[in-house]
Amino acid sequence: MPASCCERKQVKVELKLKIMKHLQKLRWLLLLLLLIGIAQSCEKDEIIVSPVADTTETKDDTPPNTGSDNDNPEPTPDPEPTPDPDSSDGEAETDITLYTLEGDNLKKVRDYEVSGSALELQQDVAKHEEVWNLVKKIIPSNYLAKISDFMIYEGGQSGIAGYVFNTKEDLTKWRLGLAIDYAYEGGFNSDGQFAYTVIHEFGHILTLDNTQLDSSIGEASCQNYFVGEGCAKKEAYINELFSNHWSDIWSEYNNIDEEDFSALDAFYEKYKDRFVTPYSATNPAEDIAEVFATFVTRSNTFQVGEKAEAKMQSLQNKNELVALKDFILQNTRSSKRRAFFSKGGSWKHGKHVGKSKKGCTHRRTTS
Ligand SMILES: [Zn+2]
Repeated sequence: MPASCCERKQVKVELKLKIMKHLQKLRWLLLLLLLIGIAQSCEKDEIIVSPVADTTETKDDTPPNTGSDNDNPEPTPDPEPTPDPDSSDGEAETDITLYTLEGDNLKKVRDYEVSGSALELQQDVAKHEEVWNLVKKIIPSNYLAKISDFMIYEGGQSGIAGYVFNTKEDLTKWRLGLAIDYAYEGGFNSDGQFAYTVIHEFGHILTLDNTQLDSSIGEASCQNYFVGEGCAKKEAYINELFSNHWSDIWSEYNNIDEEDFSALDAFYEKYKDRFVTPYSATNPAEDIAEVFATFVTRSNTFQVGEKAEAKMQSLQNKNELVALKDFILQNTRSSKRRAFFSKGGSWKHGKHVGKSKKGCTHRRTTS
């Protein structure tokens, strides 16, 4: 018996309801799949690769500063990768406040749970701003765009004045970390030491980012100098530096045990003619950062060896680096501070050879 018009309508309505129910189930399933997809892609994008950090002057066997220890586990469930740039020596630095960038300005992501001196530094937000204002005098807007986040930390006994590491696997985005206690040692940016640190760290981003390195090429297939972060492009600053100034001493350098500080010092002494500072001899990544920082800040009276001078002169032919030098000097010359920079060679964090061969960890100096 054929269904009546009303029955057909009812059947249709029931059918529609069934379909909608199915669709609703499907929607939840799709939503779930989408969430899983996002979670996976975030993991891929946020891979943290080799940190590059910088060491400091002698601290000898100073006991750990327990007042600023952060023994409390991070309360937030967010995955927050923490670099461990100096895991083998001394105390780790204490993370204080993490910022992201909104345009050229800071936007707080989180305050870490800290106590003692680190808490005081956390609460003194004016200092965070003062530090950032100095960063902006050194790093132009279009380069600030490469910085995904900015960590204020307490260096304490770690000896780490600053660090950078890529927050995107493709090297387009970087974290900049700066030790705020070191920034105020002897007064803010005393003797220009802190400004030099910022220039040095900027030098790392300039020479290790995606314009310079290809992170998709592994060491085995890299035809040029391989940095931990990726394979240097042929025209990369670091590749030129390596070809001209490291390739002939590379096997000798690689035969040194990275824990053998006296052998590293001897290596520097033997080849000091080609290095702008002892810290330059740490590895090619530190060398290019030191050459750039010295290129920007050197005074006329700071003399380096003939080969080191050749490294500096080669930067004189790089339009990008010359423009950056001009930007930094123009911005800082207008400053009322007399001693805005460490003059070349006087950066106290650069007086010793670091221990890393990969640009990832640094030596706490002992003499
Ligand atoms: Zn460095």
